[in-house]
Amino acid sequence: MIHYQSTRGSRYIKTSAQAIIQGIAEDGGLYVPNEIPKLPFEIKEMVGRPYKDVAFAILQAFFEDFTDEELNRCVDGAYDEKFDSEEIVPIVKAEDAYFMELYHGKTAAFKDMALSIMPYLLRTAMKKEKEDKRVCILTATSGDTGKAALEGFADLPGTEIIVFYPKDGVSEVQERQMITQTGKNTHVFAIEGNFDDAQTGVKKIFDDESFADDLREEGYKLSSANSINIGRLVPQVAYYVYGYLKLVERGVIKAGEEINVIVPTGNFGNILAAYYAGEMGIPIKKYICASNENNVLTDFLATGTYNLHRDFHLTSSPSMDILISSNLERLLYHLSGGNGKEIAGLMEALKKKGKYTVHPGILYKLDKFHGGFATMDRVAKTIGYMYEKYDYLMDTHTAVGYRVYEDYIAYTGDRTPALLASTASPFKFAKDVADAIGLKEEENGFEYIKAVHAKTGVMVPEGLKDLEHKEVRHTGVVKVEEMEAAVREALSR
Ligand SMILES: *Cc1c(COP(=O)(O)O)cnc(C)c1O
Repeated sequence: MIHYQSTRGSRYIKTSAQAIIQGIAEDGGLYVPNEIPKLPFEIKEMVGRPYKDVAFAILQAFFEDFTDEELNRCVDGAYDEKFDSEEIVPIVKAEDAYFMELYHGKTAAFKDMALSIMPYLLRTAMKKEKEDKRVCILTATSGDTGKAALEGFADLPGTEIIVFYPKDGVSEVQERQMITQTGKNTHVFAIEGNFDDAQTGVKKIFDDESFADDLREEGYKLSSANSINIGRLVPQVAYYVYGYLKLVERGVIKAGEEINVIVPTGNFGNILAAYYAGEMGIPIKKYICASNENNVLTDFLATGTYNLHRDFHLTSSPSMDILISSNLERLLYHLSGGNGKEIAGLMEALKKKGKYTVHPGILYKLDKFHGGFATMDRVAKTIGYMYEKYDYLMDTHTAVGYRVYEDYIAYTGDRTPALLASTASPFKFAKDVADAIGLKEEENGFEYIKAVHAKTGVMVPEGLKDLEHKEVRHTGVVKVEEMEAAVREALSR
């Protein structure tokens, strides 16, 4: 049976249910499966099947301790009319790429793909493990995870959800989505810092044993809805498999032929899910890792040195304004052949010295990954000409991916059919999108939504309509050092 263990060598072994409840391992590492399962079906047999069937098959392969009935209930609960497209994940061809639109869920970003199902997985896991504590989900967000997690966990019995977002690091629409969240168990705080501060703060809280003891006495157990939780990562594998099957169905490729995958990347969760799909048996030639000005991964993939000594940039793709890409740890663990000690050493160096260098064996295996980055002006131009010339409107993050992909083609001439993870609705970043397609200045983010709709005719996602009229329910702003206190305060309400 597949089990889960830490990337940093702790020898505790968990079932998937236990790993989902726990979120992060005792030694600060991330849970990884002891092996990545092979595709549980022949590609030809699955072509044409609906998203739910693919999701079920992938979850079943990774979460062997869940029964079929349990998984079916999770999948049915997640991928329903909450999505504004019957296909769940529409795939749209525009110019050089197939855009896999992952943003048709409730909060209009790809985080819905996993966070629609994760609450079901967690509830099921809690029942299986007879967990009697209330599970308190701590989440750091660069803008999109927060809202998707709040939406997924709002009023879910046995849970509290606490979100920390960087005060000046999210778009106006993203912020408004979060601070208007309803649900008795929802708590949202702005922090005076960036996403890395928020994520490091959350990890610190997980590391603080006396804090955990206090909470336990009060009947709480901490967990995470960030992509450090394996319950987030595995559902994301499904759409890469589904995307591949669709390209076969449409005759773009034959079953067994290779594709390239492009992923606008921040915390490295989404692209790691693509890697898992590849390891399962989906033929992926290159994983193209696209960054904005925070291009720590571009440099890492080229040199093998991960170096945090650089400026942090606030960009038009805020959900990728990240310098510490947590899930890279999982990739390195797999590429090291499961050497927890080695990974623990690298992570220790990152914490102490702000950098590490992987050994040549790992660097060699990283060859399957290509890193590139795009600056804001080029991103805006890309949005503009893709709209003008090809009538395809994309958001700033997706445009980072597309720009990097065009560079990749120019550089390599590699025209292998490409699936691009399209990660957010353009309306979530309406101001930058409006600027890019030449619209005039507006009063606020909500006016930009209307203007972009008026110009393009693209439908505004349900969850973004009327945002400006919703009641603001969360106003807390805290310093990074006050995050623990904020958790205490939230739980005592
Ligand atoms: C979260 C996010 C990303 C980055 O995904 P990671 O899994 O963190 O690499 C990219 N684009 C958007 C719109 C996002 O919300």
